Amino acid sequence: MSDDILKVLLNEEQIEKRCIELAEQIESDYEKLHAVPIVVGLLKGSVPFMAELIKRFTFDCEIDFMSVSSYDGTESIGDVRIEKDMDISCRGRHILVVEDIVDTGRTLREVKQMFMNKGATDVKIVSLLDKPERRVVDIKADYVGYTVPNEFVVGYGLDYNQKYRNLPFIGILKPEIYE
Ligand code: 5GP
Ligand code: MG
Ligand code: MG
Repeated sequence: MSDDILKVLLNEEQIEKRCIELAEQIESDYEKLHAVPIVVGLLKGSVPFMAELIKRFTFDCEIDFMSVSSYDGTESIGDVRIEKDMDISCRGRHILVVEDIVDTGRTLREVKQMFMNKGATDVKIVSLLDKPERRVVDIKADYVGYTVPNEFVVGYGLDYNQKYRNLPFIGILKPEIYE
């Protein structure tokens, strides 16, 4: 599996170090708001990142997951469908969406709009990675782990056809794997 990786962009240590910083920043912001947020991981890519973050939170929060689909292979197709909804109601709640990567921004725009339509008080986004060169809609995560170049990356939750999510680092996939 590691043979399919062209280059490691971020190793486990770098990711963990950044997660500690992000968790501190997020914690301080929610303490100021006196809010008990629902931390909502977008399945499946956010799982390792979500685990790394929430174990550092020492404030009250609730955890939930949802699954939306907008992506097939390596090209984003735009409209977002809810495959699995949350268990907890988001009405009147502060929502912290946990995402693996913001690429075109379409998924997060739709997800944010959906939460507002359902009566959430506030929606913030934390994304492990940001690929700003690919953005087509005007959306910014409130918290970003690392900015990455315009390459297809896998590992630490991110997949190619459901593989590579279990790699403990973020790497660029060899183009011959998907070409
Ligand atoms: P967006 O709607 O922002 O275009 O895409 C969001 C989703 O596309 C991400 O949550 C992720 O699942 C997928 N995605 C975007 N870029 C990459 C990438 O470089 N690698 C992988 N594995 N998935 C990506
Ligand atoms: Mg995702
Ligand atoms: Mg994917």
